[in-house]
Amino acid sequence: MNIEVKPAPAAGAMLAEPVEIARVGVVGAGQMGNGIAHVCALAGLNVTMLDIKAGALDAAMGTIARNLDRQVNRKLISEEDKVDALARIDTKEDYAALKEADFVIEAATEKEDVKRSIFKLLTPHLKPSCMLASNTSSISITRLGAATDRPEKFIGMHFMNPVPVMKLVEIIRGIATDEPTFQAVRALADKLGKTAAVAEDFPAFIVNRILVPMINEAVYALYEGVGSVSGIDTSMRLGANHPMGPLELADFIGLDTCLSIMQVLYEGLSDSKYRPCPLLVKYVEAGWLGRKTKRGFYDYTVSPPRPTR
Ligand code: NAD
Repeated sequence: MNIEVKPAPAAGAMLAEPVEIARVGVVGAGQMGNGIAHVCALAGLNVTMLDIKAGALDAAMGTIARNLDRQVNRKLISEEDKVDALARIDTKEDYAALKEADFVIEAATEKEDVKRSIFKLLTPHLKPSCMLASNTSSISITRLGAATDRPEKFIGMHFMNPVPVMKLVEIIRGIATDEPTFQAVRALADKLGKTAAVAEDFPAFIVNRILVPMINEAVYALYEGVGSVSGIDTSMRLGANHPMGPLELADFIGLDTCLSIMQVLYEGLSDSKYRPCPLLVKYVEAGWLGRKTKRGFYDYTVSPPRPTR
């Protein structure tokens, strides 16, 4: 079934060169936001990164510097590339700093109310031509776009974690997204050296529609005692040739993010097969969110990380 819905482009819009993006704003400086800032700066774009959590911006700059160093050590980039990229990233706490941006990508916590409140505060500061994207893993792009003053310039641009390493970007049009915005974002993905996959605006798009229910199933297997943490991860690494076990991957993604994605699938598709595992809910309620809080299915305060069940 072909369910692609495209608004009619303005005359000549399909043939026009994509609008060039030179100044980028990144809202949310967590693991995804700092990765997006990293790859944009390395591709020669000027980046302003913004967060509300005290210390998040300094921590993000530290992570970017370390990850760039790693690329220098592997001879993927030069020392000069690293220095230039760092100089192109600016950090700010005030949305007014994004007034010159050509493109802003929101990469804040996976909660719809958080994203909506960001758009409300942000959009009055943006120039009319500024395009706006969300890096959401699962939330409807059409609904998020409708909460802004520019649904036709709103799009989903879903990077994978870790952003500097992973090649894929999913691009998701909302029902109102116009063709010039789609083309500009596709050109941006090319410029960042990423491969774009176009996904329709359904809960969790392509990658997470498939990946996160598998993770949830692994948590059920743990909950029901089918296997231990290391039994489940070893089985999927050696038995299915996955580079990481599903519980290790869940810790890497963030258990709060995994839970939010399952809730969006469950509610968005009204199908009980997507119900989040109660054990995943419990871990999130305990604040055991995975690597970022040093405890999830593994305890990261020790080396190597120790399974918690
Ligand atoms: P994270 O918890 O590492 O970072 C989220 C950041 O958003 C935090 O620094 C927080 O302070 C900030 N934030 C919260 N409210 C804010 C506000 N009102 N204004 C500005 N900043 C705010 O989360 P993450 O893993 O980086 O995920 C961010 C987004 O990227 C989510 O939408 C998530 O679904 C998506 N995503 C995550 C992954 C993954 O593997 N973790 C992969 C692809 C996409």
